[in-house]
Amino acid sequence: MANLFQSVRGFNDVLPANSSAWQQLQRTAEQVFAAYGYGEIRLPMLEHTALFKRSIGEVTDIVEKEMFTFTDREGDSLSLRPEGTASCVRAGLEHGLLHNQQQRLWYAGPMFRHERPQAGRYRQFHQLGVEAYGMAGPDIDVEVIALSARLLKRLGLRELRLELNSLGSAAVRAQYRAALIEFLQRHESSLDADSQRRLHSNPLRVLDSKSPQTQALLAEAPLLRDCFGDAERAHFEGLQQGLADLGIEACVNPRLVRGLDYYTSTVFEWTTTALGAQGTVLAGGRYDGLVEQLGGSATPAVGWACGVERLLLLQQAQNVPVPGGEAQVYCCWLGEAAQRSASQLVERLRDALPQLRIVLHAGGGKLAAQLKRADRSGAQLALILGDAEVAAQSVQVKSLRASEATQEILPWSELDQRLAGL
Ligand code: ATP
Ligand code: MG
Repeated sequence: MANLFQSVRGFNDVLPANSSAWQQLQRTAEQVFAAYGYGEIRLPMLEHTALFKRSIGEVTDIVEKEMFTFTDREGDSLSLRPEGTASCVRAGLEHGLLHNQQQRLWYAGPMFRHERPQAGRYRQFHQLGVEAYGMAGPDIDVEVIALSARLLKRLGLRELRLELNSLGSAAVRAQYRAALIEFLQRHESSLDADSQRRLHSNPLRVLDSKSPQTQALLAEAPLLRDCFGDAERAHFEGLQQGLADLGIEACVNPRLVRGLDYYTSTVFEWTTTALGAQGTVLAGGRYDGLVEQLGGSATPAVGWACGVERLLLLQQAQNVPVPGGEAQVYCCWLGEAAQRSASQLVERLRDALPQLRIVLHAGGGKLAAQLKRADRSGAQLALILGDAEVAAQSVQVKSLRASEATQEILPWSELDQRLAGL
């Protein structure tokens, strides 16, 4: 039985030592989203199960076996959201944001999938995503991909590969589906068990099979693009041209399909070889049919989502420096009068220097013990106040990190200026 006083398997805590990297990532993303004119939408974590069945698809890994689904006290089937797009469309429809309009949206937050936990794969994980509605041309596909490229670059990540494919329209896929089933049936006995099962229910997912034997066989399979009409071809070429214009390199991977049924036309993934099997850090595509499928009018749509944990793991793997959130200043005091002065002094410093991270010692104790805490806090400077300093309205400033420890005495009036440079 699970230990009831440990976190639920696959659900992680983020401790203060790591949370500044998370905050930095979120801040960077917010800047990049704003730079493209995207507005934030905040969505609930719980939705009616039917929403995900309808949008992601009944015969997908996510809906078949990965959702956290339960019946609530009213007898309704609810699920923790496994991704953000379905909720975004639901909210857009519910609030009238999508009809005859253009929208550029972003969201962030936890998602839930009951998968086998491993590095880069968790049961609660976090995504940042963008969605653009009401724009049909390849120019908006280019925009969301350019946005993703800028975000990854701003996060200091390198050696990522952009893979691109087009799934064509629903009609093209129906035609391709028939051709693919015909091909797969001829090789049915050589397929892995999952692929045999998918052959009729969701044959395109066979293209994504992890079995090497199935993959070898697929080298001979018909290609989606052979079914493309002029419109599909023009869109895909427009997309590639637009990316080339911006100097964004992309590799066309004709076997790239995505694990969610709502994709049409453009699909893409940013991948790395540095994270083992969990190599996809960001993925998305066009989903022109979904708004209508969920009850709205036909609305073109495109978006992507990235896995925050994977981006952070990649930053670590690539030694990207991320700022720490530790204290910069630690204020020690000796005696009751000094405690009261110190309390007022640091409040005044927080007024004057709102960015400064300053810890006021609490609990008393000897100066040596306080300085030990100051050192452990990561602060660069310790401030020391005793009776003499209070009487003189001054403070001792001791450097904790310099190779030679220095100590100076400053009047309170000069302290702001001394700390402003930290
Ligand atoms: P994978 O093939 O790795 O299972 P996916 O195709 O299921 O990914 P999407 O649904 O496209 O993933 O989600 C977008 C991104 O969210 C992924 O590229 C990945 O970075 C991240 N992600 C998906 N599932 C998990 C998970 N269980 N834990 C951590 N990150 C995840
Ligand atoms: Mg998955």
